[in-house]
Amino acid sequence: MDLVKHEHDVLVVGAGGSGLRASMGLSQSDLSVACISKVFPTRSHTVAAQGGISGALGNMGEDDWRWHMYDTVKGSDWLGDQDSIEYMCKNAVESIIELEHYGVPFSRTEEGKIYQRPFGGMTTEYGKGIAQRTCAAADRTGHAILHTLYTQSLKNDVDFYIEYFVIDLLFEDGKCVGVLAWCLEDGKIHLFQSHMVILATGGYGRAYLSSTSAHTCTGDGNAMVLRANLPLQDMEFIQFHPTGIYGAGCLITEGARGEGGYLTNSEGERFMPKYAPNAKDLASRDVVSRAIQMEVNAGRGVGLEKDHAHLHLEHLGPETINERLPGIAETAQIFAGVDVNKEPIPIIPTVHYNMGGTPTNYNTEVLSSDNTVIPGLMAVGEGACVSVHGANRLGSNSLLDLIVFGRSAADRAIEVLKDKPESHPNISRSSIDKILSRFDAIKNANGDINPYEIRDKMQRAMQKYAPVYRDQQTMDKGIEIMKGLFDDFSNIKLTDSSMIWNTDLAETLELNNLLYQSLATLYSASARTESRGSHARDDYPERDDDNWLKHSLVSVNDKGEASYDYKDVELKTLTDEMETVELKARTY
Ligand SMILES: Cc1cc2nc3c(=O)[nH]c(=O)nc-3n(C[C@H](O)[C@H](O)[C@H](O)COP(=O)(O)OP(=O)(O)OC[C@H]3O[C@@H](n4cnc5c(N)ncnc54)[C@H](O)[C@@H]3O)c2cc1C
Repeated sequence: MDLVKHEHDVLVVGAGGSGLRASMGLSQSDLSVACISKVFPTRSHTVAAQGGISGALGNMGEDDWRWHMYDTVKGSDWLGDQDSIEYMCKNAVESIIELEHYGVPFSRTEEGKIYQRPFGGMTTEYGKGIAQRTCAAADRTGHAILHTLYTQSLKNDVDFYIEYFVIDLLFEDGKCVGVLAWCLEDGKIHLFQSHMVILATGGYGRAYLSSTSAHTCTGDGNAMVLRANLPLQDMEFIQFHPTGIYGAGCLITEGARGEGGYLTNSEGERFMPKYAPNAKDLASRDVVSRAIQMEVNAGRGVGLEKDHAHLHLEHLGPETINERLPGIAETAQIFAGVDVNKEPIPIIPTVHYNMGGTPTNYNTEVLSSDNTVIPGLMAVGEGACVSVHGANRLGSNSLLDLIVFGRSAADRAIEVLKDKPESHPNISRSSIDKILSRFDAIKNANGDINPYEIRDKMQRAMQKYAPVYRDQQTMDKGIEIMKGLFDDFSNIKLTDSSMIWNTDLAETLELNNLLYQSLATLYSASARTESRGSHARDDYPERDDDNWLKHSLVSVNDKGEASYDYKDVELKTLTDEMETVELKARTY
């Protein structure tokens, strides 16, 4: 097969918020930067982010980045690395003001400052008050940020390769030296060589049946990392957002509760004060999702099946809804047939975010099992595990993660490539052939099983065997089923073996990537015998700091078998401007 060749100093794979922020930063240097994306940049999932981006700007009451840091460590159930968290919270204000200057049309206060709303787990004075910390552009914040970053990237002459599907990473002598990609439009395989690859490929929400994520959220970069014999970190931590629309899975932002919305059960009881006396409906997401599940388990769910809850916005009034939550009103009308001014929205906890992913340090360099930097490879965004979210992410901390670490990735790559080699290394034919033979085997697969059957079974299995509440038996069953599906993949049949816009092939490559990550999630989850953050086990209901204050590292080989490593959580802060947030019980 003829390869179309490209050479760049840096390749950014992914054009969501993190990839675009990194590309834009790099384009301001004299490095040549290419951004490769399987979808048109502004269709990346970041466009769907609603509620906002956190930062202690203090526009609507006193605030301090240290309070934000405290909340983030506590939200992470102490699994977040405190050096990375300090870096993120301290750099938040500057990064957001920078976004404002790039042109993000934030909502405004009367005085013309950026509007900030309350969000779950965000407090003042180390847990005493409720903070207004989440900067919003109505309920379309991701849309505003992504479009601004895309136009800025165009202005700065980033070379975009749009609708190119990256298949795998290329390594020579342990260094990442580029990627192989399939161009959906010309149907050719392209060889991209670079001195640095920055993975920004997003999360893998689509491993589940009911998820708020776009269909393209298949975590391709994480699967490439596993295929490169590198581990993924903390994959057991899957965030269920408390308020996905019942039956449809679409998200109703936490901003709805930030603006005063609240939850009720079948008795019309506002139940959150029972579970979180202080923060109530604005406790962290794992706490609220578990509370809903407990109400349902106690027979107090709403609806015919008594399996969900109600979210009320009726009392807010049309003016607030039109100004602050217009997208929510529209989504509720379309997907639940509900007029939010008159009736509650039926909601259910829905898969929303992956805390785990490709391990990196706070400079966004990818790390191996023994914590050494993998030359030539960086990772940012939801696909990376830097780890600022630990066992549970606070709402509005992901957009912040994209922006702060996207920016940091650009800075770090520029620094590392100060002494860049004069030319690109020769890439051995065997490295290329290995990737192409897997690609060809999938493209020409002529077995017995329709890949869509496998996908359906995988999504149902994740839903059932890696749910909000877990136990050993459920997860072991999940592993058995998933391993079977992983094996079944070698017996699939594709009906279309063309190369141009073969969506069947693209979705099957994505399925393969999801299978790797589903296994990684189940393996890590079954090994962690404690409850922490979003990982809630019926058989081990307590957090166990003596044995489990550590990150899980899991590798999955091409037979679907796992190997495990663990590493310490970084409890030391980066500077002496903030002390370590000491371990304690997590109550809201
Ligand atoms: C509905 C919804 C609402 C949310 N609201 C908020 C919010 O209000 N605040 C907040 O902080 N967080 C929010 N989040 C979370 C946050 O939006 C995401 O975590 C974040 O946008 C992910 O950004 P990213 O840059 O990592 O990747 P994405 O935006 O998911 O982009 C991934 C990119 O990678 C590219 N890509 C992937 N695989 C390949 C491949 N094989 N080849 C080439 N390109 C590839 C894609 O084309 C895409 O450009 C929300 C998430 C959802 C789903």
